[in-house]
Amino acid sequence: MYSAHRIFKRQRLLLLLSALLIAGFFATTLSSYFVSKQAILDAIVAQELPLTSSNIYSEIQKDLVRPVLISSTMAHDTFLRDWVLDGERDVEAMARYLREIKDRYRAFSSFFVSERSAHYYTGNGILKRVSPEAPRDVWYYRVRAMQEPYEINVDPDLANRDALTIFVNYRVFDFEGRFLGATGVGLTVDAVRRLISDYQQRFQRTIYFVDAQGRIVLFGNQSGRQQTDLHAAEGLRDLIDRILREKSGSYRFKADGNAYLLNVNYIPELKWYLFVEKGEAGALAAIRQTLYINLAVCLGITVLVMFLTHIALRRYQQRIESMAATDKLTGLLNRQAFGILIDKAFAEYRRDPRPISILLIDVDNFKSINDQYGHVVGDHILSQVAAQLQQGLRASDIAVRWGGEEFLVVLKGCALDHARQVAEQLRLKIGQQPFHAGKHTIPVTVSIGASQYDGAESYEQSIGRADAGLYAAKNGGRNRVCVATVS
Ligand code: GH3
Ligand code: MG
Ligand code: MG
Repeated sequence: MYSAHRIFKRQRLLLLLSALLIAGFFATTLSSYFVSKQAILDAIVAQELPLTSSNIYSEIQKDLVRPVLISSTMAHDTFLRDWVLDGERDVEAMARYLREIKDRYRAFSSFFVSERSAHYYTGNGILKRVSPEAPRDVWYYRVRAMQEPYEINVDPDLANRDALTIFVNYRVFDFEGRFLGATGVGLTVDAVRRLISDYQQRFQRTIYFVDAQGRIVLFGNQSGRQQTDLHAAEGLRDLIDRILREKSGSYRFKADGNAYLLNVNYIPELKWYLFVEKGEAGALAAIRQTLYINLAVCLGITVLVMFLTHIALRRYQQRIESMAATDKLTGLLNRQAFGILIDKAFAEYRRDPRPISILLIDVDNFKSINDQYGHVVGDHILSQVAAQLQQGLRASDIAVRWGGEEFLVVLKGCALDHARQVAEQLRLKIGQQPFHAGKHTIPVTVSIGASQYDGAESYEQSIGRADAGLYAAKNGGRNRVCVATVS
């Protein structure tokens, strides 16, 4: 009970220590993780995404904005307008003009559609007539009806084997403001797509263009998105109207369990929005791994510290306990330890009633040894007697220094008859053994009283009967064993 209490206290101390260590480790590791995480996310929002955005913007300016200027020039060209007003007579002149534009500006195609004749002119002459019923000509009637001077439209180009093409469709007016038709250039999206794909790969982010209606109009090799209309896309659904309204900004949204950072820039020349987005998971993978490693290291250190502390504490405690439990001079147990052990022995007896006997041993005429040879020699004799006792006993027996020159022995699993034999052996062994102290050889004898625990009494009662036996042995002339029977 006594030592169980100590073990309990030790475990509480260990628990407290590990709780402190783990709390400290977790607090520092997690706080540094969250600080670096925030720093990384801030850097992505404040620098990375806008930087990508402006890089792409300046690249596409070359590829996309220039065609708008060219188309604008065409729409205001006096040759084109005069040619139409003249009745579209010389088709070859128009074809030459369109060829010239196409070659000079390295456009993919160039065109003019006349409102009066419905002819679709290209560098090769008349391609066809547009008609309101043809689905492929829908764009012309849309351009004719719209308010803005031009639009940018991604469509297959039927003049170029249906390659996906970005068209700049510019409205043409005569000098009185009457609508004459639509002109402009087309360019293949391949170049722009390659550019976007390249950026996507290099910077591990998703890039695409969105029109004013919130539809994806242009993306790299893989759009990464199932939905073209962002009003139906997970995560962006609730955000898209705000984005289109705000035109430029940084946003964060969640889709399929991941968080994304998004930077949007409005490109007025294209009337498109440039979306650059990046998944947080990828960006944070490295520091998340560091976090796990750090946590594992912390855990390892905690376990190690716990283990070492446990060992150190146990050793320290054992030493203290044995110091507190043993008699300095003889190395035998002291009375305090005896109290604990005899309680345990009696508790064991209740479970398994094997006989327990007690011997009380007193050195004969010790006072005269002290008087004759001095205290130091007396002490020496005492420790030798103790050693003799210990040698004559089993490991399960308990030997105690009971008082000055008195010893007590508890014999477990030993009935009184057997105890008497053990006592007799001890008495003979000590009596026949010459004790040496310096140059002196000193005969030492002991008297022993023995008793057996009756299974119900207190240990004081058992010892009291052994003491009575000892008293009888002294009275009977010393150097003998006497057994006190149950009275
Ligand atoms: P008896 O045969 O009746 O036991 O005679 P005795 O002289 O042994 O009896 P008593 O109990 O009167 O004397 C014990 C002596 O032991 C007295 C005391 O000074 C001595 N003594 C007690 N403890 C120590 C000790 O630690 N060291 C030494 N040297 N002497 C001790
Ligand atoms: Mg005595
Ligand atoms: Mg004595």
